[in-house]
Amino acid sequence: MTKETVSATADKNDLAEAADFGFEANVEQLLELMTHSVYSEKDVFLRELISNAADACEKLRYESLSDAKLAAVANAPLIKISLDQDKRTITVADNGIGMSRNDLITALGSIANSGTRAFLEKINKAKSENETGLIGRFGVGFYSAFMVAEKVDVATRRAGEEQTWLWSSEGKGRYSIAPLLLSDAPEYGTIVTIHLNKDSEEFLETWRIEKIISEHSGAVSTPIDLLSDSGEESKRIADGVALWTKPKSEITQEEYTDFYRQLSGQFDDPALTAHWRAEGRTEYTVLAFIPGARPLDLFDPARKSKTKLYVRRVLISQSANLLPAWLRFVRLVVDSADLPLNVSREVAQKSPEILAIGKAITSKLLQELTKICENDSEKFATIWENFGAVIKEGLHEDPSRRDALFALALFASTKSDKKNRSLKDYVADLKENQTAIYYITGEDAKRLAASPQIEGYRARGIEVLLLDDSVDAFWVTSALGFEGKPFKSVTQGLSDIDATPQIEKSETETVTPPDVDALVKALKATLGESIEDVRVSTRLTESAACLIASDQGLDRQLAKILSEHGQLGLMSKPILEINPTHAAIQTLGSLLREKGQEAAQDRMHLLVDLARVADGELPQEPAAFTKRLAKLMAQSS
Ligand code: ADP
Repeated sequence: MTKETVSATADKNDLAEAADFGFEANVEQLLELMTHSVYSEKDVFLRELISNAADACEKLRYESLSDAKLAAVANAPLIKISLDQDKRTITVADNGIGMSRNDLITALGSIANSGTRAFLEKINKAKSENETGLIGRFGVGFYSAFMVAEKVDVATRRAGEEQTWLWSSEGKGRYSIAPLLLSDAPEYGTIVTIHLNKDSEEFLETWRIEKIISEHSGAVSTPIDLLSDSGEESKRIADGVALWTKPKSEITQEEYTDFYRQLSGQFDDPALTAHWRAEGRTEYTVLAFIPGARPLDLFDPARKSKTKLYVRRVLISQSANLLPAWLRFVRLVVDSADLPLNVSREVAQKSPEILAIGKAITSKLLQELTKICENDSEKFATIWENFGAVIKEGLHEDPSRRDALFALALFASTKSDKKNRSLKDYVADLKENQTAIYYITGEDAKRLAASPQIEGYRARGIEVLLLDDSVDAFWVTSALGFEGKPFKSVTQGLSDIDATPQIEKSETETVTPPDVDALVKALKATLGESIEDVRVSTRLTESAACLIASDQGLDRQLAKILSEHGQLGLMSKPILEINPTHAAIQTLGSLLREKGQEAAQDRMHLLVDLARVADGELPQEPAAFTKRLAKLMAQSS
């Protein structure tokens, strides 16, 4: 299928449609990676091509449901693989849906898959050699063919259309599309021909191909035949029986794992495999996996769930929304016996049966998670590490499941820098007179642990949860509390920790504070524009000052997130709390008393700016801040 033969048989009209294209920039980048990949498990390419072929067969089966013409032409789905020793090619042919000219341009000329996009972003950020190992953990689809190919030809005809097209590329930035009128053009479906490069001739060995397929494609839902060299004989190497329809007792964990890998395009071992059949009012089969590694598109803003919905083995939707967004990392196959087959995707997703099935699966998955949490804390810790930030979205969005989710949640705190403190642990360790569950939110638990605002709590042995996922700032405000104890931010409102004595008094504690009232007044007068109020703090023991949100306002972290996303106009002014036992405050007090407000002014500004820096913010006016600090540094004592 070379270009010469194409033009020889194409008529004038067709020739006008033959064209040369450049790949979209991000595809080019991906191809560059693929062609220079030193990745050792090159056989990924075959799994990807087979998976695309099987998807195409499923799409045709689905479209034939509502299109009698397609139903009439569609044969039993089949994938055929053949090797040609002379031409050094591998061919993967399917009788699936095929592609039109436009499909070719959008599907093979650009990147639609959000996982692949995320993959590229990650590679771009990392830029280091070993990160290319990502190719081994995450499939990158069709383009992986260029790991082994010097040229790829795709001859394809969309089922129901007249024209067959030949897409061709050497993976070097450009591809061509031309009409194909050869007698061996597929009636419909796709033939992908890989012209192997010099380093990949190992894939011409029949046994090698057979091994890859039998090891990794046993779970593909379309049968696979391997043709002999002459093309006359064929051997069935995968039966195409959908895994979930088999009894559990007949499936090995390896088969489940292969299925999971095929389904997810990831190559890790699933952390949870659950396979069950629900009988009763609605009948359906579920095969669910919790990945062992984070999918790259976990935080994609679309928050799409990954459910493949079948009705009696016909794929209705690749990404049905059966599960709530906080379970979007679960890879799920649902095969329902109850829905009518000719139901449209949109109707299927909103039907009461599907909603009921989605709810029941959510409950069951929650039970499974709870079981792991109770019986295998190490395994649960890994799941939580990977997906805790997503599961916590449920605390905010799914109040009816909140208690069950609270029982799972693990946090870092001032008692543990690992995320292994449950709310139960927290409540069991409450101090006498402690009436709330204290927390601080921010971007990084380690930095939070050093926040001035928690010093007083630490000095009293009161545990503070260090919440460093952005979703935390949301659920803490909507959750009413846990076991009767409300959640309370240590960076907001008056602190109520005086009732608990400090475990160790700091040395400065005994020093008589300066004239605090005068100092507070002067600070208010000087900083009034950027500060709501000034107070004497009980929560500080080591730092001179910190910033707090007012009792009624939003917690500062939440306000920061909202204003970054343009959902909040102006941030309200913070309250400055000062520690009268700190030497810097005492010096400031003396300066004020002896030399007056003006002499103390620079230090007052510095004080509030330092509090901002401690919160990970910039000083209000960085230039003025550096000048003031430099002036102070210039003083000899
Ligand atoms: P993904 O399969 O994750 O969408 P790929 O890069 O593997 O990403 O494929 C891109 C697209 O090309 C597919 O979504 C599909 O639309 C199309 N495609 C690839 N192979 C085939 C095939 N054998 N038959 C029909 N369409 C195909």
